[in-house]
Amino acid sequence: MISVESYKRPETIAEALKLLKTGKFGIIAGGTDVIPQMRHTPARSLLDIGKLGLDFVRENDNTVEIGAAATHSQIQNNPLIQRFLPLLSTACGLVGSWQIRNRGTIGGNIVNASPCADSAPALLIYDTKVVLLSSQGRRSVNLSEFIKKPYLTVLTAKDLVHSFVCQKGDDSAGNSFIKLGRRQAVNISRMTIAVSLVRDDSNKITMAKIAVGSVFPTPTRISELENKLIGQIVSKELFDETADLAADLMIKASGVRWSTPYKKPVLIGLMRRALVGASGIKEIPA
Ligand SMILES: Cc1cc2nc3c(=O)[nH]c(=O)nc-3n(C[C@H](O)[C@H](O)[C@H](O)COP(=O)(O)OP(=O)(O)OC[C@H]3O[C@@H](n4cnc5c(N)ncnc54)[C@H](O)[C@@H]3O)c2cc1C
Repeated sequence: MISVESYKRPETIAEALKLLKTGKFGIIAGGTDVIPQMRHTPARSLLDIGKLGLDFVRENDNTVEIGAAATHSQIQNNPLIQRFLPLLSTACGLVGSWQIRNRGTIGGNIVNASPCADSAPALLIYDTKVVLLSSQGRRSVNLSEFIKKPYLTVLTAKDLVHSFVCQKGDDSAGNSFIKLGRRQAVNISRMTIAVSLVRDDSNKITMAKIAVGSVFPTPTRISELENKLIGQIVSKELFDETADLAADLMIKASGVRWSTPYKKPVLIGLMRRALVGASGIKEIPA
């Protein structure tokens, strides 16, 4: 049974921070992670952030800022995000079912810090910073440092995630987001891959960003793969070698496990597919 000790729904951020300062409240946004978890935990006091106006999306010069309480559906369908952060729009459109996308928020997805959180690889591609508020003030943390290990972030009980500040993607980039799951719908990811590539007229790769979910303990940008690609001419051999390197890095990080005979060929195959997709070239030269 689920029981709640107390429930507050403040209407201002100042009020919310004051309540959080007591250290007695757990934040609830859409509740799609919190409510199932409460079946197994003692009664808690909940602070609902639904009235704080944190569901905004706004454009600045080189960035798009997304409020922590924006839902996956809002993000999927927002024109600014579709234009400047297309991988994030795609990723949020693949979360769960439409019911989950309508309730679940980007803040909840990142704070829950699951290795398979669908929005995380896309946010990493856009060099996202997490903006935190507390009664002590405001601070900003790179997403790559925000998630410390599976299901653990740098957040304290007194912090509120306010927003995510994402660098706008390159207009000329080709993008590919692949989510692998056991089935087609309401699908928790087994692996996710996000790739963004820019190539010049001679097919030389001038920009490469690659991030993965459920490959390492936390969602990760893979600079080794990016460095291997930048400055090289697109070829089948280059993409094959890059995909093989991804698998080598996975095994180096976590060792050979019971899941390796499955994960290694899957990662190689999906990485190749994502690279080809982002290159925008149908027939990759040998
Ligand atoms: C059936 C089902 C299918 C799902 N499918 C997917 C899927 O395909 N892909 C996927 O990635 N996830 C999936 N999820 C997980 C979940 O829906 C997402 O992680 C969702 O984005 C969580 O958001 P929420 O608003 O519901 O978070 P909540 O449950 O409200 O909160 C989650 C955590 O974040 C904290 N939190 C929330 N907002 C803030 C904030 N602003 N500041 C500080 N802390 C905060 C809460 O305290 C809690 O610890 C699924 C869940 C279910 C039940």
